[in-house]
Amino acid sequence: MATITLEQEINPWEAQAARFDYAARKLNLDEGIWKILRYPSREIIVHIPVMMDDGHIEVFTGFRVQHSVARGPGKGGIRYSPDVTLDEVRALASWMTWKCAVVNIPFGGAKGGIICDPKHMSMGEIERMTRRYTSDIIEFIGPEKDVPAPDVNTNDQVMAWIMDTYSMHMRQTVTAVVTGKPLSIGGSRGRTEATGRGIAMVCDEAMRYLSMRQEGCRVVIQGFGNVGSNAARLMTDRGYKIVGIAEQDGGLYNPNGIDVCALLDYRERNRTVLGFKGAEAADSDQLLLSDCEILIPAATENVITSRNADRIKARIVCEGANGPTTAVADEILADKKIFIIPDILANAGGVTASYFEWVQDRQGYFWNEATVNERLEAILRESFDDVVRYAEAHNVNNRIAAYMLAIDRVAFTIKQRGIYA
Ligand code: GLU
Repeated sequence: MATITLEQEINPWEAQAARFDYAARKLNLDEGIWKILRYPSREIIVHIPVMMDDGHIEVFTGFRVQHSVARGPGKGGIRYSPDVTLDEVRALASWMTWKCAVVNIPFGGAKGGIICDPKHMSMGEIERMTRRYTSDIIEFIGPEKDVPAPDVNTNDQVMAWIMDTYSMHMRQTVTAVVTGKPLSIGGSRGRTEATGRGIAMVCDEAMRYLSMRQEGCRVVIQGFGNVGSNAARLMTDRGYKIVGIAEQDGGLYNPNGIDVCALLDYRERNRTVLGFKGAEAADSDQLLLSDCEILIPAATENVITSRNADRIKARIVCEGANGPTTAVADEILADKKIFIIPDILANAGGVTASYFEWVQDRQGYFWNEATVNERLEAILRESFDDVVRYAEAHNVNNRIAAYMLAIDRVAFTIKQRGIYA
């Protein structure tokens, strides 16, 4: 790979494009399809005025990027963070296209984001911002157009506000416009835990594939939000030993395994994992480099970079977050023969359960949790198998295999649909 600066390395759009170009070249992708899929098909930028609690008006910048709607409506979360950039949302939208194609669900890829700091906003401010953002992008979303969902710093309450705002404009309740809603207004059982559950499921598949055992298998998780905490809880039940939790403000380490239920209780009461008595305090950056079998980055992008990849000791890296590994770090991990379960497969449990939610909303018939989990497992198992078999057959690593499989599926659909002129 040509020499690139750290700034380029950590730009998520560059990270996505590097893998896309590589996989497209390997696939011998038609040049025209390459040009279509390299960039998003639509990018919406809105400037959202919000009346703040103290009476002054703030204007927030929001994005919704639709990368591809070839295989179905756009699908993807909305994140609220001060660090959101258009390039990041573009990358995340493309990753959604590939993710939905890897698990073979009938959606395209989209993503949204608002540059804001929700930690310093009141509920009322967040609600007004969410509703105005929804109304500003209203003609571009809908059950058959583009279906948002939660992502970093957004949750079921935010989805409820989006659903309500959309429904007010449509003059009828339209539950299928977003997924990740509360159960009482068309949410699906199992959706909140689905990303973490999916992580546990693909780790089980990796154990089987690599002839390893869950019992005593040491796991370090970076990020203890919805994805990381549910993965920790569900993996403990399956026999894995969670030895490290790395959070932004510090981490925890216990070589004998952290009692995840006690930690969740502690966090509920104290709003932080720091100070938990069942583990030693540890430096988060060091935890990523500690001795373990599985490392799960489950927060945001650029956690494994050229700066630390050569010191990672894990046998398996399972990407709960989107884009936690840079393209440069990928090559280093490949040289070290680390087994990667790439984000577009590893964290696809969330969007797969979102698909189930959308189906249930449109049918008006709701499944029990066992059905959701069973169907989730069937899809993730098959997708894991598709990716590792593809990697073996084409002699590429799992990430490139997942991209190739996804790009091939999307390209096939575009060719079948043809180009409208
Ligand atoms: N934000 C999640 C993701 O990155 C879920 C998206 C969805 O359910 O649409 O996959």
